[in-house]
Amino acid sequence: MKHIDQVSLAQSENLLNIISKLQLAVAASRMGVWEYDEATQSVHWDDRMLEIYGITDGKNQRPDDFWERHIHPDDIEAMTAYAEECRRENKDFNHDYRIVREDGSVRHIRSLARNVSTPGEKSKLVGVNIDVTEDYLRAEELKKAQTQLKHDARHDVLTGLGNRRALDEVTQDAFDVMAATDRYCLMLLDLDYFKEVNDELGHLAGDFVLKTVARILVDVVGTSGTVFRIGGDEFATFFPVAPPEGDIVALCETLIEQVKAPIPFQGEDCFIGASIGFAFGKGPPKTASRIFSDADTALYEAKRNGRSGYCAYSSDLTQRPACVTNTRRDLLNALSNDAFICHYQPQFDAKTLEIIGAEALVRWQCPQRGLLPPAAFLPEATDLNLVIDIDERVLELVASQQDDWHLESLPFPTVSVNTSAERLRDPDFTQKVDKVLRPHHKIAFELLETAFLDDIDDVTRANLDALRARGIRIDLDDFGSGHSSVTALQTVKPHQAKIDRSLVRPIETNPRQIMTLQALCRIARLASAKTVIEGLESGLMLAAIRSVDCDALQGYALERPAPASDFAALLRRAAQTSV
Ligand code: C2E
Ligand code: MG
Ligand code: MG
Repeated sequence: MKHIDQVSLAQSENLLNIISKLQLAVAASRMGVWEYDEATQSVHWDDRMLEIYGITDGKNQRPDDFWERHIHPDDIEAMTAYAEECRRENKDFNHDYRIVREDGSVRHIRSLARNVSTPGEKSKLVGVNIDVTEDYLRAEELKKAQTQLKHDARHDVLTGLGNRRALDEVTQDAFDVMAATDRYCLMLLDLDYFKEVNDELGHLAGDFVLKTVARILVDVVGTSGTVFRIGGDEFATFFPVAPPEGDIVALCETLIEQVKAPIPFQGEDCFIGASIGFAFGKGPPKTASRIFSDADTALYEAKRNGRSGYCAYSSDLTQRPACVTNTRRDLLNALSNDAFICHYQPQFDAKTLEIIGAEALVRWQCPQRGLLPPAAFLPEATDLNLVIDIDERVLELVASQQDDWHLESLPFPTVSVNTSAERLRDPDFTQKVDKVLRPHHKIAFELLETAFLDDIDDVTRANLDALRARGIRIDLDDFGSGHSSVTALQTVKPHQAKIDRSLVRPIETNPRQIMTLQALCRIARLASAKTVIEGLESGLMLAAIRSVDCDALQGYALERPAPASDFAALLRRAAQTSV
């Protein structure tokens, strides 16, 4: 007997132990617990339940319709129907809904409940409520940001017009539904003397000119076509139903006249001009790029005939000469002749302004055309599938540069190399990286065009994991530009997100833009990513972003991209001052 007592005592002590642990777990989880007993018609809410619903009278026994009275009017019908369904089918209740607290505020609740009665008994329900309002707000914020980014991906921030990507989509949509006899027209407009305005009067004047031209184009074109800004000073207008050629000619003349008129900006007159080329097409083209190259040929002809003119495409026009485009042979030669080099642009700690990294930016030392920036050859290298080769070369260059610094015992920071998302789809990617990198190398990969990583495939995922396993940092480039989406924050889980230049530039003229930057930093932080603000061009911009809570800064105002020797000199100076 004594033995049995000891056992039951030990069991009940054990039970008490478990119960107190459970109570602790419930308290820590901030869950509210309730119970309903049909037999006694009583409802018991614990203190946390009362707290969640904003009830301050401290009464734990509540009337049995108490819960329903607090459900948000828009959710009540669905929730009572769902509760009834759970009761009928004897299944667990598991749903989110909104409540209106005693003070009138609305909260999102996650509710789980189970029938714990034994068969034949009146029902006994036990449930928990968790306040998940913060999760909902976060999800809403992400959704809003995603919608905004989707919009930004297709729009030019400065003029609000559709961008090149939008033009590609609009033309493709039109081609998809076009009959063989339908005629359409594409008009390209390129500004003359725009560079002079930018150089002489500054980029604020340049921006103003671009906005003015955008307005003129939209006014003159009206509803017959859609206007896009497809490059620095290049605009396109697509007419899905081609107006008669005479109307297009009249439109070109009006545009050229209006753009030629002086544009007053801060007491100065800006003088620019416009050259226009246009081409007609009939029926869906074999390749969408055909109409672009025809309109471009016409534009080139207009420019050749003197500026501020227009020209229609015809098959006897000469194509833009090959010397300004790069052929596959030129690029392959450049690869085999070591004509690609890297410039390094330092990145600074936002608080201490210490150098904490650098970005390697590729340049082509072209024997005919001098030192070329990426914009002069990467688009064609992409079309010719040579970007991956260039990216691999850049990684080799940076690794070999770091070998030198290592030998010299020069302390150097992590250097980021840009990489197209496509490169990550290469199953041999990690093997190639392993061939180049040694333990003393400090490399990060900056992923471009991550908008295409929304649906990450197995090879990409394996490559990203392999990089992480090797301690290689992964960053998202151009975050917020539309080339890089919020979704990528979740799929790629980057170490840091670099906020795109196009979003940084407007802070000089539009103080509200700071809020966008702040929001982007917050979104990145929600995904545990650090943030870099790039493109800080002026002291004014540097001052403006002081209030943004970001981690690192990059831009001309701090340091321009420079050859490796200049960057090493900077590192040496930094090393000396820190001694
Ligand atoms: P990115 O990766 O966003 O690089 C930053 C670009 O912004 C660089 O232009 C840099 O010179 C420029 N920049 C930095 N600070 C400022 C500033 O304050 N004001 C202005 N206006 N610009 C600033 P860069 O070198 O012409 O490179 C352009 C783009 O070419 C890069 O943009 C990147 O997308 C691509 N790129 C560069 N190197 C490589 C590479 O090795 N591989 C690949 N796939 N792409 C590369
Ligand atoms: Mg980059
Ligand atoms: Mg960038």
